[in-house]
Amino acid sequence: RLTFADIHHHYGARHVLKGVSLTAEPGEVLCLLGPSGSGKTTLLRIAAGIERQSSGRLVLNDREISGDEADLPPEQRGIGLMFQDFALFPHLTIVDNVRFGLTQLSRRAGREEAMVALDRVGLAHHGMSYPHLLSGGEQQRVALARALAPRPGVLLMDEPFSGLDSRLKDSVRAQTLAILREARATAIVVTHDAEEAMRMGDRIALLGGGELIQTGTAEDLYHRPANLFAAAFFSELN
Ligand code: ATP
Repeated sequence: RLTFADIHHHYGARHVLKGVSLTAEPGEVLCLLGPSGSGKTTLLRIAAGIERQSSGRLVLNDREISGDEADLPPEQRGIGLMFQDFALFPHLTIVDNVRFGLTQLSRRAGREEAMVALDRVGLAHHGMSYPHLLSGGEQQRVALARALAPRPGVLLMDEPFSGLDSRLKDSVRAQTLAILREARATAIVVTHDAEEAMRMGDRIALLGGGELIQTGTAEDLYHRPANLFAAAFFSELN
């Protein structure tokens, strides 16, 4: 469980997060939805420890990881991060790419764990291959295996499907969801696409102008929007 408690953030004079309080519950996929500039990426960067919030606290499984009491560096937070461009190393084999998230283990133990993670995403047979020999969807699964391999308390995914061909998106999304479920992972998925949030999220947190507008199930947001902003966000769907 990851809790954001009253997170504020300023870039210079700009107040881009205005008191966001939100909890990702164990085992759920929480979609962070909002238009461009609403502060989604900033919130993820703060959780990952790439950016330090101006004020507020972050608590992972009852342990304060950032705030007045503590400020842990990214590698000690127990939070996994998956980037939209997958960020695989072209010169490393698939298994070594996955092992990269397991630097605390010996080479041998790291390889074994990496193979377990690859098996989980159905790609163990590609372990000795290289990223450019895999399809876009397979590369996305390698990135997912790498992010899940250290068994993070929470996995953060920033627009994880935006780099994929639109024909691939639906199937990769479904596969990703199945893998997250199987791993019982808690995940926060950032997207600006309302339809994607409705398909993936156990719950959706709608962000607008740095404020949390509404949190609920897809059904709550679609049928009982909290205000006009929320209603407009879903009005193009049917
Ligand atoms: P997008 O989907 O376009 O990435 P977002 O919802 O993720 O949007 P953020 O990237 O978190 O939004 O940006 C929130 C606001 O903060 C925007 O107005 C943006 O211009 C501003 N911003 C983001 N990063 C910086 C920075 N490093 N310095 C100054 N302003 C920034």
